[in-house]
This record gives sequence, C-alpha cells and structure tokens, in this order.
Amino acid sequence: MPEAAVRESFLEQVVRETPNGERLKRCIQCGSCGGSCPSGAEMELTPRALFALIRAGDKERVLRANTMWKCVSCYFCTVRCPQEIPITDVMYALKRIAIREGLAVESDAPALAHTFSRYVDRYGRSFELGIASRYLLVHKPGTALRMGPTGLSMLRRGRLSLAPKRIRDLEGFQAIVARARELEREESA
Ligand code: SF4
Ligand code: SF4
Repeated sequence: MPEAAVRESFLEQVVRETPNGERLKRCIQCGSCGGSCPSGAEMELTPRALFALIRAGDKERVLRANTMWKCVSCYFCTVRCPQEIPITDVMYALKRIAIREGLAVESDAPALAHTFSRYVDRYGRSFELGIASRYLLVHKPGTALRMGPTGLSMLRRGRLSLAPKRIRDLEGFQAIVARARELEREESA
C-alpha cells in the first residue's frame, strides 16, 4: 500500500471509531489539551503529539504509547479544545484499537477494564470489592495489601458492599449494551 494510503487509513480508522471523530482533522496543534491535562506529566506523548502522529500515520508509535492509558477521562482537554475535538473519546478509541491489535503497553489496564465491564454487564453497575479482589490481587498484589486497611474501614462504615447489587431493569440495560456492541461491530467491520 502506498505510504500516503497507510497514513490516511490510520487517521480514518481513528476517525471512524470516535463519535464526531471527523473533528480530529481540525487539530491546529495549539497544545491546550496537554497543558490542561492532570496526567500530562506521566504521558510519554502529550495528546497534541499523539494527534500529530495519528495524522502522520505512525500507528505503531501511537498504539504503543502510554498516553491513552494514563488518561483519567476528566474531559478537561475536551472542554478547552478550541477546535471542539472529542479528545477523551479519541483516547477511548485508541485503547480499543490497541487492545484489538495486541499493542496495548499497559498490560494490566485492559484487565482492569475487562473486570470492570464484566460486573457492569452482569449487574448493571460496578462492584468495588469484586474488582479489588479479582483485579488487584492478581495484577497488583502490593497495592491490594496497601489498600487492605482502607477497605476494612470502608466496610465497617458501610461504604463498601460485600455482595454485588443488581440495578432495576437489568434486562433493559443489557439490551441497550448488546445493541451498542452490535453497532460498534458493524461500524468497525
Ligand atoms: S487543544 Fe485541540 S486543537 Fe489544540 S492541540 Fe489539542 S486537540 Fe489540537
Ligand atoms: S480527558 Fe484524559 S487526556 Fe484529557 S485532560 Fe483529562 S486525563 Fe488528560
């Protein structure tokens, strides 16, 4: 495939996988996003640099960066972007593509996302104790031990449930999620 077509295809892939992703093409490289980001210091590439590389077609470098995994979805960049680019949603799209293509560098981040979404799929909401026991004990045992006293204190104060609770109309919620996944599959096909 010619170089220009490779470049175009990665940009178009990200655009296709991001709601209102077409706006990504309007980036003027002003850097307001990185300047607003609370996680900027931990990112190998700022959002601005990431977007320049997407446009340059450097797929491997983009998908192997830790940037999207350090994003805490605060939406501050999105609110401040003068071009109204859905930056936070681009981060989600990059995570999905990196996981799908086996290039996710933060190996435990996808595991956290899967543990979280398994509880949401099953009960309609998150279950903190389950996430702590299934994810932290397996992937970050040191953190699990450090958080033990905090967890016990939260349990004593009734701030942590011992068992997951289902939301009302779980079937309705599951039907919405199933339809959303179907649409996502159709769009990325
Ligand atoms: S704030 Fe918006 S326009 Fe500026 S660099 Fe970031 S994404 Fe591009
Ligand atoms: S949404 Fe993510 S990338 Fe944007 S400012 Fe917040 S942490 Fe940074």
